[in-house]
Amino acid sequence: MATKTSQKIMELSMYIDGEWRKGSENQKREIINPANGEVIAEAAEGTVSDTRVAIQAARKAFDQGNWPSLSAEERAGYLLRVADKIDERHDELTALETMDNGKPLREAGYDVSDAAACFRYYAGLILAPHGETYNVPDNMQAMVIREPIGVCGLIVPWNYPLLMSVWKIAPALAAGNTIVYKPSELTPVTPTKLFEIFEEIGLPRGVANMVMGAGETVGNEIAVSDDVDMISFTGGTDTGRHIMKAASGNMKKISLELGGKSPNIIFADTDLENAVDFALFGIYAGAGQICSAGSRILVEKSIKDAFIARFVERANKIKVGPGDDPQTEMGPLVSQEQLDKVLRYIEIGKAEGAEIACGGYRLTDRDYGKGFFVAPTAFIQTKPDMRIVQEEIFGPVAVFQTFKDEAEAVKLANDTKYGLAGGVFTRDAAKAMRVIKKVRAGITWVNTYHGTYNEAPWHGYKQSGIGSSLGTYGLDEFLETKQINFNLNVEPIGWFSD
Ligand code: NAD
Repeated sequence: MATKTSQKIMELSMYIDGEWRKGSENQKREIINPANGEVIAEAAEGTVSDTRVAIQAARKAFDQGNWPSLSAEERAGYLLRVADKIDERHDELTALETMDNGKPLREAGYDVSDAAACFRYYAGLILAPHGETYNVPDNMQAMVIREPIGVCGLIVPWNYPLLMSVWKIAPALAAGNTIVYKPSELTPVTPTKLFEIFEEIGLPRGVANMVMGAGETVGNEIAVSDDVDMISFTGGTDTGRHIMKAASGNMKKISLELGGKSPNIIFADTDLENAVDFALFGIYAGAGQICSAGSRILVEKSIKDAFIARFVERANKIKVGPGDDPQTEMGPLVSQEQLDKVLRYIEIGKAEGAEIACGGYRLTDRDYGKGFFVAPTAFIQTKPDMRIVQEEIFGPVAVFQTFKDEAEAVKLANDTKYGLAGGVFTRDAAKAMRVIKKVRAGITWVNTYHGTYNEAPWHGYKQSGIGSSLGTYGLDEFLETKQINFNLNVEPIGWFSD
């Protein structure tokens, strides 16, 4: 159980209809620093009734307010001011992200910069031409215009508290929608700061609403509400499945970014040092709590011993520690629950007969105290049907698999229900292209891993999602497409006799 410290505990409120509010039942949730288990904040706990109030505020702002009909230039102006404020508060937001999520300052700093860049990207993109015209018969001018969808429900996880939120909020607002947004119940700190920025720059009342609290209450209400026109969700595949069902009542549009168990395929002809370096980065960045993590490392048999030996040597040197220590290379897991889940999977792997090549335990000595730290872990001697190979662990746990040729590499790569990401390492360009084209995943890399850009779409195949984030695709998610047929010859059609 987390203990309070003398450090000042932040009070976090919800932002509904332009006002900061406590939960209607006055309940609070303690927010924990995963590096030491201490309480850093108390967040208002939203209820179904709070969620309904927020949805009605967004509804009113969309149906009666001017946000959807503002010029693209005016909306872009708001987004650019948000980006500038994020930049101004870069160091503060970085420190808070580290305190709340646990990720090292270096990673949190990138996230904050990316968040500002994402607002700028969508501010620019909304000014681009949208729509088409068609040459059709019948003296008709056919055209397509793009319109906002309405009230968008946005639900995000805890692994990128600020950035995942911005991937949704920036395009949703740029497109002219109003939003009801729910951060993860574990990480509401930087989202609250983002809403402070919305208030500061004068975003019109009701356009952006934030309700904090549990998925089963607040999240579910957003998903089932008939007054929400679209839901954009990022999180686990099982939760995504639930949201799909919950959203079916009013057939709201859905966009789901879900889990992964991504293959990183290492061929024998690769530059070994480069491949080891990116394999480590692929699984241990974010302590493995990244949806696209290269959590299955597939190595060609002829180099397996050399590759795994070098990987393990370097994994054992990774400096694990609190994110606010500049020396730290890998932080803690986000919560006690996530720690328990990862340790449970390590036990499952052992029971299934896989062998631990490195790590495999919680770090508990004096330096780690009550933090949720797990040593960088890797399993060898795995079999494709093991749970540790098939299921998303979402922690610093790599599983090694081996293959004898290209065909087997592709078969193993595609042998899970997920299809989020994948990497290939080889010096043979044609082979790289052949293999990456056969990997059933939406985000792929050749001789690198994890690079993500606002300009390019982020998208999962199979049970890793529906729809896209980022790029032009990410804006399209938040727009309706309207066909207009304009008669250039206004006279009766005469279909029926008079
Ligand atoms: P989660 O599914 O438990 O929760 C995600 C969000 O959904 C949270 O805000 C939670 O409160 C809410 N939620 C939970 N139950 C709900 C319900 N019944 N109805 C509505 N909302 C509900 O996921 P998590 O543990 O927060 O995050 C980890 C997962 O997110 C991993 O599976 C990871 O792969 C995935 N993820 C995917 C991407 C991507 O882009 N594909 C990015 C980041 C994380």
